[in-house]
Amino acid sequence: MRRISIFGATGSIGESTYDLICRMGGAEAVRTVALTGGNNVARLAEMARTLRAEVAVTAHEANLPALRAALAGSGVHAAAGPHALIEAADREADWVMSAIVGAAGLVPGMRALAHGSALALANKESLVTAGELLLSTARAHGATILPVDSEHSAIFQALVGEDLTAVDRIILTASGGALRDWPMERLAHATLAEALAHPNWSMGQRITIDSASMFNKALEVIETREFFGVRPEQIEVIIHPESIIHSMVGFNDGAVMAHLGMPDMRHPIGYALNWPERQPLPVARLDLAALGQLTFRAPDEARYPALRLAREVMEVRGLAGAAFNAAKEIALDHFIAGRLGFLQMAALVEETLSRLSADSRLGIAAESLEDVLAMDHLARIRAGEVARELG
Ligand code: NDP
Ligand code: MG
Repeated sequence: MRRISIFGATGSIGESTYDLICRMGGAEAVRTVALTGGNNVARLAEMARTLRAEVAVTAHEANLPALRAALAGSGVHAAAGPHALIEAADREADWVMSAIVGAAGLVPGMRALAHGSALALANKESLVTAGELLLSTARAHGATILPVDSEHSAIFQALVGEDLTAVDRIILTASGGALRDWPMERLAHATLAEALAHPNWSMGQRITIDSASMFNKALEVIETREFFGVRPEQIEVIIHPESIIHSMVGFNDGAVMAHLGMPDMRHPIGYALNWPERQPLPVARLDLAALGQLTFRAPDEARYPALRLAREVMEVRGLAGAAFNAAKEIALDHFIAGRLGFLQMAALVEETLSRLSADSRLGIAAESLEDVLAMDHLARIRAGEVARELG
């Protein structure tokens, strides 16, 4: 039986992954090695019992007594803390879902690759912060990275059987998020609840806000550059409010291959789960006649400074991705806490990057995970300082 683990099982991607595994037959169809979560201990224990996992891990030590109590008599081992997450990643598995949110997902995913597992990668932050290290670890251990981000899964699928040297450009589609039709002057006062009202996709809180600010697309541009090895100028972003085309690949003969489907993450997760085969998935059928039209517009870079910042990060490369992501995470924390305005998030990230580049550390290529984690740490400190000045 295939051995699987889900990191971030209690999140939006984790729940969809769990749903697909249950539909495949659950504990009768796969051997569940590890399931991990954060604060949602009750749900983690419920999933671990149903799938008869070997181990359930909460990221936070303080949650261990509650997890132990919830798993009493189940035969599932309970563990907690960053160390336990690493230990869980060291348990041999054939297929591992990386769906922890934020830079916290980097280390477990890296460990899974070092064990040669197929890594279904939802955690785009891993590629943004440590793209080269991730790919070289996969190569060194014969491991496969399967993109789960819907755009990257779409591109991956459009490239099956293609000659990569014939790729001319990659066109990433963006819904534009909850605030896409707001006038600029209103954006500064957007509240958390307003930024969370995503028109098409149901996702975790953090990525939903990142969709509204386009920081999500900024991360995805960098993710594209790292994963597919294309040059930054080959990557385009287009706003496509219906979220039906998940991305496109343009070839040197003028053909553009688009991947279409209803916006449901169970498609890209299921594709990664069944790869290299295709299997039926519980995804609604696309009815183009009912939709009537698909629309597109160019993103206004003045409105979305995150896209410009992503271009700057790709120019510097090295540790700039780690700094960018960390600063973005701090900006988001402050927005969620009501300490920063919606437009101040980009200002904070830009100022943090400019202070870090004055230290001239950003362009250095990471030689190890420690380099990445050190830059992540430093950028969080700088971003915290900038936030206090702005707030
Ligand atoms: P959620 O916030 O819904 O879930 C995050 C998961 O990570 C939960 O299991 C949470 O535990 C756990 N977690 C939170 N903080 C930590 C931490 N510090 N250490 C370990 N575990 C932690 O996120 P999503 O499912 O929306 O996103 C997961 C990843 O997938 C992100 O990288 C996101 O960018 C990416 N992604 C998501 C998409 C989506 O549709 N949601 C689409 C494309 C990519 P708990 O809830 O128990 O506290
Ligand atoms: Mg995406």
